[in-house]
This record gives sequence, structure tokens and C-alpha cells, in this order.
Amino acid sequence: MKDKTSEGMDTDSDVYRTLLESTRAIPWKIDWQTMQFAYIGPQIEALLGWSQDSWVSVEDWAQRMHPEDRDKVVNFCVSQSRAGTDHEADYRALTADGRYVWIRDVVHVVRNEDGEVQALVGFMFDISERKKTEQELVRLQKELEELSFKDGLTGLANRRMFDSVLSLEWSNARRNHQPLSLILLDIDYFKQYNDCYGHLQGDDCLMRVARILESAATRARDFIARFGGEEFVLILPETDAQAAEKVAQRCRTLILDAGIPHESSESLPFLTASLGVSTIIPSHGDEPGEFVDEVDRLLYKAKQEGRNRVESLV
Ligand code: GH3
Ligand code: MG
Ligand code: MG
Repeated sequence: MKDKTSEGMDTDSDVYRTLLESTRAIPWKIDWQTMQFAYIGPQIEALLGWSQDSWVSVEDWAQRMHPEDRDKVVNFCVSQSRAGTDHEADYRALTADGRYVWIRDVVHVVRNEDGEVQALVGFMFDISERKKTEQELVRLQKELEELSFKDGLTGLANRRMFDSVLSLEWSNARRNHQPLSLILLDIDYFKQYNDCYGHLQGDDCLMRVARILESAATRARDFIARFGGEEFVLILPETDAQAAEKVAQRCRTLILDAGIPHESSESLPFLTASLGVSTIIPSHGDEPGEFVDEVDRLLYKAKQEGRNRVESLV
């Protein structure tokens, strides 16, 4: 029970002070009239390096905040305090040796009997560890998103990403009445390549082809994906049939000129690829799926006509 004697009150204050100053949360009080610190716990020095008595006014608090956080946090805290609303804010506080520590400041607004704001009291918490975990989670989340759209072997976009990009570019092309070209590429006699050189070297070969294709498609919005197995696909937005045919021929020649030995190929002793290419200005009623099928039929024709060739409608 609380001791009513003045001595007892002192004892209580001492107890409260000892309690406050022995927690990891750092207590503080700001007088609203003067905007001066009436109190800040001595723990602040251990956390940030600035001595207890160097915290004089809110200016010291604002100045010891990361410049990127300062305006937002100060404006938020001032407006919440004016409105008499308890609040909390996360920010990076500057340490005396020039580092930053993530702080969560939890603020309670104290009012007098007339309801006027009298003081702000609060606790600062060191949330660096929590922030680190949060940032790591965000990074992992991003990585996961990237992985789910990426082909694990070649690092190119995967089929799923291809579907999204095609749908997006299809809408763009339809809206702007622009040609959209698509190239499907399939490596020739790749089963024999694996049989002859082994699956691991087959994998290396797919990676090489991926890099070659990246060098063949030069425009910023050109998009390459692994369509599956030994098939690749290129989306060439705002590219007409002639230009697309040129890109397709460049892909074919670059692969041939790489001179990747393929002894068991039935055409040349080097790795080759067959390609189908087509162009469309999508209009109402056209479907991306049907367009892909059309290009696939051209690719099939390129195989039939002897491989190491480009088949298009022009
Ligand atoms: P065609 O000239 O008609 O295209 O004949 P092909 O042998 O290239 O085509 P087929 O579809 O018969 O065989 C494709 C081969 O690609 C079979 C498969 O094992 C191989 N393959 C698919 N994905 C991978 C992969 O990730 N790594 C490796 N090493 N081989 C793969
Ligand atoms: Mg194939
Ligand atoms: Mg093949």
C-alpha cells in the first residue's frame, strides 16, 4: 500500500525512478510550453552516446534524427500532440559516433484539467533488431517473388512471367495500335546433345544459349523467357515483321557462330536452333494464346523444312 507520509512519497518516487531507469525502455518528458526536456532517462547515453544533460529541447531530438525521417516524424508527432492524441513513431536516431539506431517512440499526451496539452511523456525503445528482421523479411519476400518468376537454370524469366508480360504487352499493343512480334526458338536435336555430352553439359549449353539471346535482343522492352525445356521465347513490343525477322535471324546466326560442337546433330556438327516468328497488331477478338499457337506452327514448319532456319509469314 502507498505510504501517505511525505517521506513515504519520496520513497515511492525513488522506487518509480529506479524502476524507470532500470528498464531498457528510455523514459522522457517534454514540457509543451517551453518544448524543453523536463527529463530523459540516463539509459539514453548507453544507447546513443549522447549524455543525459545534452537533451535540452525538442530541437536536440529532431536534429539527432536521420534526415530522411526527420520532417515526416517531427510533423507527425507535432500534429498528433497538438490534437492531444497519443501516438508512436519509428525513426533512426543518430548516435554520438555517427551511426543510426532504430527507435520506436511511444508518446502519451498529458493534459491539464482544462484539457490543454501540458506535457508529453513517453518511452523510447531500441527496435534495431526488430527492424533488421523486418528488412530481412522484406528482402527474402522480394527474393521469393523474383525466384517465382525466374527460371532457375538460365536466370531468364520463366513461363509464368512470360504469360504476364505477354498479356501486358498485348493490351499495350492493342490500345496503341502498335505491332507486337513474337519469336519462338527451339534448339535442334537437343535430345542427341544430352545423349552425346551428358545432361550437365546440356544445362551449360542452355545457359549459353540464354546469354546469346540476351545479346541478340537489344531494345529496352524486348523480353526473353525460357518457354520450357530447350525452347525460348522473345516478345518484341512495337516491332514490325521485318525488324522481328531480323532479330530472329540474328538469334539463329549468333547460335550457329558460337560454334558449340554438336557431333550427333543430324544437320551440322554445331549447335543450331529453329525459329518461328510472327507479328500482330492485336484487335478485338484476337487472343494472345492463339497468336502463340500460330508462332508455334511456324516453328514446327522450320523444323520440317530442315532446321537451323527461321520461318515467318513474310
Ligand atoms: P528437335 O530438333 O526436333 O527440336 O529435337 P530435340 O531433340 O531438340 O527435341 P526433343 O523435344 O525430342 O528433346 C528435347 C530435349 O531437351 C529432351 C530433354 O531431355 C532436353 N531438355 C529439356 N530441358 C532440359 C534441361 O533443363 N536440361 C537439359 N540438359 N536438357 C533438357
Ligand atoms: Mg522442344
Ligand atoms: Mg528441340
